Formats: sequence, C-alpha cells, structure tokens
Amino acid sequence: MTENHELPKTYAPGDFEERIYKNWCDKGYFTAKIDKKKKPYTIVIPPPNITGQLHMGHALDNTLQDILIRYKRMSGFATLWLPGTDHASIATEAKIVEAMRAEGVTKEQIGREGFLKRAWAWKEQYGGRIVSQLKRLGSSCDWSRERFTMDEGCSEAVKEVFVRLFDKGLIYRGNRMVNWCPTCVTSISDAEVEYEDKPGNFYHLLYPVKETGEMLELATTRPETMLGDTAVAINAEDPRYQHLHGCHVILPLINREIPIVCDEHADMTKGTGVVKITPAHDPNDYEVGARHDLPLVRVFTYDGKMTGAADKAAADKLRKSGTAAVGEPEVLDCGKYAGLTTTEARKAILADLEAAGLLKSVEPLAHNVGTCYRCHQVIEPMVSKQWFVKMEPLAKPAIAAVREGRTKFVPERFEKNYFHWMENIRDWCISRQLWWGHRIPAFYCDACDEITVTKEATAKCPKCGCEMRQDPDTLDTWFSSALWPFSTLGWPRKNRGS
Ligand SMILES: [Zn+2]
Ligand SMILES: [Zn+2]
Repeated sequence: MTENHELPKTYAPGDFEERIYKNWCDKGYFTAKIDKKKKPYTIVIPPPNITGQLHMGHALDNTLQDILIRYKRMSGFATLWLPGTDHASIATEAKIVEAMRAEGVTKEQIGREGFLKRAWAWKEQYGGRIVSQLKRLGSSCDWSRERFTMDEGCSEAVKEVFVRLFDKGLIYRGNRMVNWCPTCVTSISDAEVEYEDKPGNFYHLLYPVKETGEMLELATTRPETMLGDTAVAINAEDPRYQHLHGCHVILPLINREIPIVCDEHADMTKGTGVVKITPAHDPNDYEVGARHDLPLVRVFTYDGKMTGAADKAAADKLRKSGTAAVGEPEVLDCGKYAGLTTTEARKAILADLEAAGLLKSVEPLAHNVGTCYRCHQVIEPMVSKQWFVKMEPLAKPAIAAVREGRTKFVPERFEKNYFHWMENIRDWCISRQLWWGHRIPAFYCDACDEITVTKEATAKCPKCGCEMRQDPDTLDTWFSSALWPFSTLGWPRKNRGS
C-alpha cells in the first residue's frame, strides 16, 4: 500500500456500494432456483405504491425482509424474494391530476386514452425510481421476477377472480350506501375513510306536525340534507310522543308530507328524541329507510352540489329503464338551491329556516367526521350504483383459519381487532369512478339492459346481438393487491414445479 491509499477518515459508501451490488446481481446470487432437495422460503414484497419515492418506513420494512431472506438463503433454503410495485389506483390518479392541474389540463380535456398514456409514463418514471432505490438499499430481490400490479399476469388473475366470484353470486351490482368523495368524484372503501374531530354545529330545527299543528324539534349537523328527508323517527316507547304515532310532518321549505315512524334508531335519552331520516345520505338512516320501506331521495350531485331539474330528468329516465331501476334513488329538483355547493346550500337553507321561524337554536359541537384519506375532504355518504363483493361467506373460512390456529397473529392481541372486523364485515364496494386501474370486466347492452361479465376485451349481447359497452369504472386497488401473492407466482395458470 502506498501513502496515497490511506483509509479515508469518513465512511463513504457511495464509492463502492453500487459496484458490489452490481456484482451480486451479475453473478445471479439473488436469482431463485427451484431445487427439490432444498426447502423453499419465499417473501413476496408488499409492493410500494408508484405515487412517489420510498420513505423511511420502506427503508425499515425492506431491510427487515432483506435480513430474513439473506438469513434463510445462507441457512440453505431455496429462497425467493419477489419484488414489484403497486399501481395504487386512487393515490396515483390523484397525483397525476394534481400535476395536470399545474399545467392547466383536466382529465376531461385529454380523455381516457390520453390520461392512461400519462399514467403509464408516470409508472415508468416513479416505478423506475422505486426500483433503483430498492437496489441502493442493497435489497437481495430476484429482479428477473419483478412484477407490477397492472401487468399482464396480474390483469389475468383479476379478471379470472372477478368472473369466478360473479358466477358464484359473490359479486353483484346494486344501489347501496357508499362512502363518496365529492372531490375525487369516486366511491371509496370503509378502510379509506379517516375520522377526524372537526368543529361544527348542532342545528335545532322545527318541523310542523300535519295532524296536530304542534312543532317537533330535532337536531342535525347537516341541515342541507333536510331536503332529502323522507321521514322523522321517534322511539315507540317515548312517552312524549305517544299521541303522534301514525302522524306526519310537513317538511319545511318544500312542503312535502312525510311520515313519523317509530324506530329504535331514535334514542329517547338524547335531546328531544326525534331524528330526521335521510335514507339517501346517511348510513344509519339508510337502514331505518330499509326497515320502513321509505323512499330514497337524493339531493346532492356526485360532485358536491345540490341537484336540479336536469339531474332529476336524468334520474327519472333511468328509474323507468327496467333492471337498472332497482334501488335507484329519486332525485329532487332542489329549486332555488339547485347548483349551490353543499356549503353554500347549508347557509341558504339555514337563512330560510330562520326567516320562517323554524331554526330554534344553534349549538356548537365538535364531532367526528369521515374524511377522504387521499384529499382529506369530508366524505358524503351516498346511495349509488356500484359493484360489491358479498363478504359474509368469504369471511367465514377466514375467521375459522384463525380460530383453529392455522393462521396466527403476531402480536396475538391483534386477533381481537381481526375478529371484530371480520364478524361485523359489510359488503365491499369494489368499483371506483377512476381511470387508472383494472377496468371492470362487465359489459352492458344499451338496447336491452343485458349485463355480461367476461374476460374477453369486447362482448356482443347474448340476447339481441348488439355491441356491448364496457363498464367505465375500475376496481379498488385492493382487489388486485389481495391477489398479489398468487398472481406473481403464476396463478391462475397451473404451473406447479416450473
Ligand atoms: Zn378525496
Ligand atoms: Zn341486448
């Protein structure tokens, strides 16, 4: 060693890490080989979202995986650490829309094709960056098997599962209460709603009783939904209202007569014990509505405004069209409030109620509000036509697997959360009003209302022979992410041992 090659005073990994990593890869040290004499040990990477770059959490998580896989590799197992990235439908679409906004371009201007072109370019850029970051971490992944949740194999698996579950009656399309983000203009799943304490008010309103002329007091945090009220509920046991069983109230501002119903949802111990029922815009009221066969009246548009004459005309047309009409809400022409945002409508409606002497009081109240995990705007519960997975029959064997000890939670206390979640599970809304993602493999005939679910790219109506139109929506990212451990290893192809 000469004097010029003194050991540097500080550690400078940049000088040699890349060279060493390249050497590992070139020599195929991380490439999985099937060896029947060795026990297999496999980790399928939880695919990072292509929304941006890796963060500290990824660095930790991937280091842990790397430690495990290297330990097993050196202990003589046939190891595979399979890498890849996730298309992250809503999160990525939101990022691209945001980037487009900076350029003054909207999704509508460039159309679906144009948008998808941008999305794929985004994937190249950010997916590529994530891969190079994983490599810089020294992750010993088998790069010859790198996958993407929207590649051909994953798409094949998604279509296969959709068709199989549909054929078994476990996937259905229907009008149901969903979490709706008026900003992202899509439905989102229960898991994508974040709850935040927000300052608000409890507005005490007065509704006149038709039969007796008295005023019924009730409180609401969202007075703008009142136009969609289709009942008022009291508790059957409440001594204050025994004389009102079977009576009606006149809905203020629009003078619609709606029934007073007896329902357990009305809690005698809270306030006046009277609650307004808006089945199209509140999940609890939706249940009350179903119990009493109340009409569903939608008063919000999907982009967060009050409905008007055009919305009503479109809905009336749809409601007359046979199969499509099942469970389709009525739409109200909100008249002078039509076209206002829900925030503007709240102000206008409160002012009008006050002028009519029907706003009794306003009580400040911090309350827990559901917000969109992507854009943090308040979620609007809406009845809308979506695709759902029937969860109960699927949850049963998953519950049994843990009860019988075939699957274990570490730490064990998470078992409780799991059981609570699985035993109370609701049907999963899997359709999203987004363009970036796996398109729903369902086709509609506009001539005769026929629906076909198929893995093919196009479909002809089996009833009338017309060209069918594919559902414009995409699937919740988790529909494909849940299949990731299978689709990356070849499922649904039967390729045992290859
Ligand atoms: Zn949102
Ligand atoms: Zn047809």
